[in-house]
Amino acid sequence: MRVTVAGGGLAGLVAARRALELGARVTLLEKGDRLGGSFVYSSGYIWTYRDLPTFRSEAPGGDFALQRLILDRLAPCLSWLEELGAPVLIRETGNPLTTGARFAPRPTVAALSEEIAASGGRVCLGAALAGLVQDARGRVTGVRVLSDEGRRTEEADAVILASGGFAASPELVGRYITQGRGRMLLRAHAWSTGDGFLAALAAGALESTGLDEFYGRNLPAPPAAFPAERFVEVSQLYGRYAVALNQRGERYADEAADWSETALTRATAHQPGLRAWYIVDGAGLRRRVRERTVGEMVATAREVGGTVLEAGTVAELARKLGETGVSGDRALQSLDEYNAAVAAGSAAELSPPRSEPSAPVTTQPFVAVEVAPAITHTIGGLAVDEGCRVLRRSDGLPLPGLYAAGVEVGGVSVGGYTSGLAAAVVFGHRAAESASQNVS
Ligand SMILES: Cc1cc2nc3c(=O)[nH]c(=O)nc-3n(C[C@H](O)[C@H](O)[C@H](O)COP(=O)(O)OP(=O)(O)OC[C@H]3O[C@@H](n4cnc5c(N)ncnc54)[C@H](O)[C@@H]3O)c2cc1C
Repeated sequence: MRVTVAGGGLAGLVAARRALELGARVTLLEKGDRLGGSFVYSSGYIWTYRDLPTFRSEAPGGDFALQRLILDRLAPCLSWLEELGAPVLIRETGNPLTTGARFAPRPTVAALSEEIAASGGRVCLGAALAGLVQDARGRVTGVRVLSDEGRRTEEADAVILASGGFAASPELVGRYITQGRGRMLLRAHAWSTGDGFLAALAAGALESTGLDEFYGRNLPAPPAAFPAERFVEVSQLYGRYAVALNQRGERYADEAADWSETALTRATAHQPGLRAWYIVDGAGLRRRVRERTVGEMVATAREVGGTVLEAGTVAELARKLGETGVSGDRALQSLDEYNAAVAAGSAAELSPPRSEPSAPVTTQPFVAVEVAPAITHTIGGLAVDEGCRVLRRSDGLPLPGLYAAGVEVGGVSVGGYTSGLAAAVVFGHRAAESASQNVS
């Protein structure tokens, strides 16, 4: 059994290692010049919701069977990873809604790649999947590969797509997600431009739901500039302690709608210019999100060149916002309305409503940080079954010989968010098992 894995992020590494373990001959194609994909920039928390009802309520539009697969298989998959030598840093997530562990990303990538090499896997860096080969009946029988040496075709009995979706393609993100509203920043490596997704569609694959959704964070808006290694640190994860205003000076979303602030980030991608301002006061600056204070996150935004305004009164802050092109009068009105509703205990009746926590913006200093949404990964992708077999557009049945893992699997967390690293590990494992049996 010859298995080709396209993509050397966590999903591809897990798939390759598991397929080798099951006796396959494995080729791993990696477009970039290193392995690990986005995992190496991540916080390394590999988690799932604590039970199915919580998963359903946090990602209500997601595929039920795939959510259950993650729940059922994550713990054994994490034990498997640990047994291979992947170091666990913490055996909890710090979030009462979730369970999981924090792995050290780079040593985990090193452990997996050493295991792959030791078991005879062939790893090709700088080698991009550029298309799928099919026989007359539509079965996938190989891949087209593009590298410095030119184009070549390689035969395979099964192909696992683990190429990370299309977050790094402005064209595809524009088509499916921002729909002409502007260009979104990228909070991931730059190689996942939809090659696997497009190759699968060209081979007759079915798209999943959720193609207009993404997971990401609001980051300090340009001119802020920072390397990928600082993606976690620069993230402005304190919407729940802020009032978020758009360029028109209006509140545009419930800032505290969900714990991961995914809804707020997605809503920011619908605002004029894909920009917004987080307004916090002196009390808000002292609040903590995970291990950092809001003030520390604001300081990081300032340090990387983001636009941070500060004033002694709300009116002065609104005037300063006006100087940047925001409607200052409307911003002042929005803040006054917000403060009045919080004081009256009716923040939930605001439009848009405000969930708890809601605190008044009344203590100086008053600070405004300009943010822009950045995509970490896509939520929509390829439709697969519980065996991670890619489904056919024509009849919804498995497309023989084709499997998907990680971000490439679409529709898992539609309407919310779930761990991309868990999807990489569980679906990587599962795709390898199906591909090794080639049960299409
Ligand atoms: C800053 C940051 C923090 C994060 N924190 C967390 C966290 O704590 N917990 C969590 O669950 N998730 C987190 N994530 C998300 C998580 O890192 C990703 O969901 C996960 O790494 C995706 O793995 P993947 O293998 O599916 O895709 P990727 O990591 O994107 O890997 C895809 C690989 O495919 C390669 N590729 C692309 N096209 C081709 C092609 N044509 N041919 C061959 N190879 C190709 C790419 O170069 C890449 O190496 C974070 C992400 C970031 C950026």
